[in-house]
Amino acid sequence: MKRKKIVLWFSMYMAITLSLIATVTLIDKADDNRQMAQAGGAAEHPAVSETLMEKEDPAKEKLDKTGHNEENTQVDADIREQKKEEETLDVEAETVIASDGVSIRANYGARIYADVDKSKPMVALTFDDGPNEKSTNVILDALEKYQARATFFVVGYKVEDNSDTIKRAYRLGCEIGSHTYNHIELTTLSRKQIKAQIRNTEKVIRAVTGQKRVLLRPPYGSVDENVLKEITSPIVLWSIDTEDWKTRDSKKTVDSVINNVKDGDVILLHDSYDESAEAAEEIIRKLSEKGYQMVTASELGYYKLGGLATGVKYGAITGD
Ligand code: ZN
Repeated sequence: MKRKKIVLWFSMYMAITLSLIATVTLIDKADDNRQMAQAGGAAEHPAVSETLMEKEDPAKEKLDKTGHNEENTQVDADIREQKKEEETLDVEAETVIASDGVSIRANYGARIYADVDKSKPMVALTFDDGPNEKSTNVILDALEKYQARATFFVVGYKVEDNSDTIKRAYRLGCEIGSHTYNHIELTTLSRKQIKAQIRNTEKVIRAVTGQKRVLLRPPYGSVDENVLKEITSPIVLWSIDTEDWKTRDSKKTVDSVINNVKDGDVILLHDSYDESAEAAEEIIRKLSEKGYQMVTASELGYYKLGGLATGVKYGAITGD
């Protein structure tokens, strides 16, 4: 009987002690929360309105959807990184790449092969909107067969999933350029957003090819003052627009090239369609028969003009 009483008293004592501890802890927590609320009170409203502003900006929203909208700090870090690279690139520009013995680097890091005959006609085939595992590889097969090279202006968000295709293109001597990260019209963006589109694409391309800066082909060819202020490489547009994306007709695409081609042309195609890949096979064969050398856009710039300049827009690259 006595033992039972002791156990009962002990249990009651423990229960009271525990509930006291719990109460003190809760009060502490509540105090902490109040203090946090007071400290953060002033900053709370701007943060909320900033979120609302972001929602109102359709371009920014588009970036958010793909999860690649960089915070300001990230962009700043990228700029610092870029500045460091620019310092080292000047040295690299003078360097003859000895590993393959046949190439040098343009001032922005592109490879220039020495197996080009300057006295013979040459053109740059360019493919936008890829890479696409199927159609890009059909085009690469044809380029390999005719020992030709082309330039692929890739969309940044597609790069990671198609890194094998890009590696293959790069191994074949092709040039990988930027067509922005989200295939977005740069002239609709703020300078900060333009910077993010360019830097993020360069970053994913660099991860696959090792090349630090790349040619830019802005979607829809849209360029304005803000774009020119943010870019750190040449802008390559085109002189023959096959309109392959519109006709989706490989014969029309082939004709638009073969009936108009001349020395120094930059030919616009898309490697995102089967019909375009089919047309490209025929175009590569016919251009080869006509004696055209198919070089990259940077090589065309190098052999016709002695090099492409940063911030300059190019159509046909003739040197005339
Ligand atoms: Zn495009």
